[in-house]
Amino acid sequence: MSGFDFVATRLDTAIGWGRKFSLFHYPFVTACCGMEYMSTACAHFDIDRFGAGLTRFSPRQADLLLVVGTITHKLAPVLRTVYDQMLEPKWVIAFGACTVSGGIYRNYAVVQGIDKIIPVDVYIPGCPPRPETVLDGLLKLQDRIQRQKQDWRWARKP
Ligand code: SF4
Repeated sequence: MSGFDFVATRLDTAIGWGRKFSLFHYPFVTACCGMEYMSTACAHFDIDRFGAGLTRFSPRQADLLLVVGTITHKLAPVLRTVYDQMLEPKWVIAFGACTVSGGIYRNYAVVQGIDKIIPVDVYIPGCPPRPETVLDGLLKLQDRIQRQKQDWRWARKP
């Protein structure tokens, strides 16, 4: 391992650690899964313990988009705009069956999975998902963020 690789690996680890415990999430809440989202934030489950409790209602100040509930085709362009307005690096969690796959709504009005509109990092199943399942999804995302490689220009091979 070269000196550059060693420094880059150490920096990747430090940045990953900082990022995974300082997630600012934007809640895009449209339906009944919102109740479960609220209970995840309440004292009993306390999402703050995982460094992801800071809610931001501006996409420019958020790096985690939580899509919670049913997304209709009418709403889809709004979701896409919110995603586009977030700065890199950014991550997306699909929260609940409706968001993941359209859920019980097999009809022309509902998007059959938000990955048809935006990229998704973690899918959380359930109608609605239990708060423990939500926290499990969050931990999986944090693990992914920790292992994410940065694109260090100075460390690129010629
Ligand atoms: S997954 Fe179930 S609880 Fe969540 S928004 Fe859809 S119908 Fe409501």
